[in-house]
Amino acid sequence: MNLILLGAPGAGKGTQAEVISEKLGIPQISTGNILREAVKNGTEMGVKAKGFMESGALVPDEVVIGILKDRIAEDDCKNGFILDGFPRTVPQAEALESMGVNIDKVISLEVADETIQGRLSGRRVCEKCGASYHVEFNPPKTEGVCDKCGGAAVQRKDDAPETVIERLRTYHEQTAPLVDFYGNKGRLVKVQGQDEVKDTSELVLKAVTA
Ligand code: AMP
Repeated sequence: MNLILLGAPGAGKGTQAEVISEKLGIPQISTGNILREAVKNGTEMGVKAKGFMESGALVPDEVVIGILKDRIAEDDCKNGFILDGFPRTVPQAEALESMGVNIDKVISLEVADETIQGRLSGRRVCEKCGASYHVEFNPPKTEGVCDKCGGAAVQRKDDAPETVIERLRTYHEQTAPLVDFYGNKGRLVKVQGQDEVKDTSELVLKAVTA
């Protein structure tokens, strides 16, 4: 099954993608995580992407489309995958179509902007494996340490309040049109984000398996 998780930054895409990935045994593909790894390693792509990411803007389409194309060609994607953070623009969605990728379902996680601002200020992400936590709503067992791999769970630079405002603006301008793009194709299921992660997961899994 090929799935897309749509939603504003901080809507919980990463957390829910992990849940689906475990449940269905398909890989979670996060273009954000791939880009952060490239920035950390100082690769040519990372150097190009860094400024866009730190300012809350999107990395140019041709860069992310290239990343995605390479990633879904890998062996573990044969039985499907869940895209987390891609596509983020209509041209990216069109590129997926022209690669011949059939998308079974698009889950749109609906969360109000005000809720997102609170969530992102408390978000912590594992530097090593990308697992996502929240200091209040979903803390790791040991503060600052990832439950899954023991890596450091830290605040992302782009979770700073002024960058979050810019990321939300970017989302509404460039990514939100995808809700209609996939709605018009009859592939979209809207899921209302809940206060408790596990309650959202329940709704997401229901939507995926319905
Ligand atoms: P994320 O972890 O999904 O919030 O992504 C972090 C940052 O990486 C975004 O704010 C963008 O700058 C960049 N990024 C990730 N995925 C994409 C994408 N599909 N298109 C453009 N930029 C992206």
